[in-house]
Amino acid sequence: MEAFDTTDDRAFRHEIRAFFRESLPEDVRRTVMTGLPTGREMADRWHKVMLAKGWAAPTWPKEHGGTGWSLKRQYIFEQERVAAWAPGPLIFNIDMVGPLFIRYGTPAQNARFLPRVLSGEDHWCQGFSEPGSGSDLASLKCRAVRKGDRYVINGAKIWQTAVYESDMMFGLFRTDSSGRKQQGISVLVLPLASKGLSLRPILLLDGIERVAQCTFEDVEVPVENLIGEENQGWSIAKYLLTLERLGIAEVGASRACLGRLKTLAGAEIRGNEPLLLEPTLLKEIADVEADLDALEATEYRFLFDPQSNGELGPESSILKIQGTLIRQRLTELTMRVAGPFAQETATDLPSSAPDEARSFAAWATRHYFNFRKISIYGGSNEIQRNIVAKAVLGL
Ligand SMILES: Cc1cc2nc3c(=O)[nH]c(=O)nc-3n(C[C@H](O)[C@H](O)[C@H](O)COP(=O)(O)OP(=O)(O)OC[C@H]3O[C@@H](n4cnc5c(N)ncnc54)[C@H](O)[C@@H]3O)c2cc1C
Repeated sequence: MEAFDTTDDRAFRHEIRAFFRESLPEDVRRTVMTGLPTGREMADRWHKVMLAKGWAAPTWPKEHGGTGWSLKRQYIFEQERVAAWAPGPLIFNIDMVGPLFIRYGTPAQNARFLPRVLSGEDHWCQGFSEPGSGSDLASLKCRAVRKGDRYVINGAKIWQTAVYESDMMFGLFRTDSSGRKQQGISVLVLPLASKGLSLRPILLLDGIERVAQCTFEDVEVPVENLIGEENQGWSIAKYLLTLERLGIAEVGASRACLGRLKTLAGAEIRGNEPLLLEPTLLKEIADVEADLDALEATEYRFLFDPQSNGELGPESSILKIQGTLIRQRLTELTMRVAGPFAQETATDLPSSAPDEARSFAAWATRHYFNFRKISIYGGSNEIQRNIVAKAVLGL
């Protein structure tokens, strides 16, 4: 959507582009391109670079250490970041728990937690889902009982992403069962090293990423770690979901993937001509590109329509559904184009200079398996379709 850039936007875009070109370490870029997780050391190293530049929290207000950028600038930054294959901000710190504190934290909580959220000294993970409470999140049962100046937690959480690289968890806990299920939920924050908290790893389909099931046995959390009011956690959880505005469609990531896919298919000779010219494949690539163009235009319209005020409502579900389907289709096409190279797993690749085709094939294989998750987490696509049916179409 560069076509809609103003002169100011264009200058800003070039500043961002130049920064990534000059400051993104080559090993970090290659790791992102190859699709391997950056891991804590690399994530911290890159986060420090962004901190020094003042861009570690692109969506935060200035008074809390953010950039104070307009929505348009955040959008441009995200496009350029993805195109440069730079890692995103620490997602749970910057996109979730930071805004949570900024909106609901007391001054004492913000003084204690926020600087470490921004600096990345603590990494955070999200403890919402439970065995039996995913789509129907409000039915959660992990119980926090108040005893004097502490809550005592018993129960389980599941699917915690990045938990093995994290220090802290923000979670939803049941503090009252007497009313409707949406009532009686509270937000607590706690160290993962808390006594009585144990983790059982779950290896994802790609064979690399690990999430976990967390078991709480009499885990004690001081009452000062309650965020917002007791039993008001459901509205806080809903607020966090409204923050998923920018980037939910992941257009930039799909665009970068599509570009690499075309390069790879253009370079691969099957028979006497480039694979890209094989009619069935060419049609499928053209179809996905047309759908991506339409998605980008729709996202732009939702975000920057003067009447929407940058507030995405239930329409964001449309972006999530289409965005995840396109990303999954692209990994499938890349697997086909990569052919035998797709059998290389990312971990089998030598760290020294894998060529573009092999590195992309490894990316595709890992993401083909890993991206099964993207139409499940953050509210599955079936749930998003229910939202579109009810809240957008009024069915
Ligand atoms: C890799 C991964 C990482 C995750 N990371 C986190 C994390 O960091 N923190 C966290 O708290 N959670 C996390 N989650 C949990 C995620 O949010 C849930 O898995 C998701 O909400 C679905 O819940 P569920 O797994 O219990 O499936 P269920 O809710 O049991 O759903 C099973 C199937 O039924 C369908 N379904 C359910 N209800 C309906 C309905 N009303 N109408 C139509 N279809 C329906 C679903 O779409 C799905 O296909 C993660 C999940 C995965 C897979």
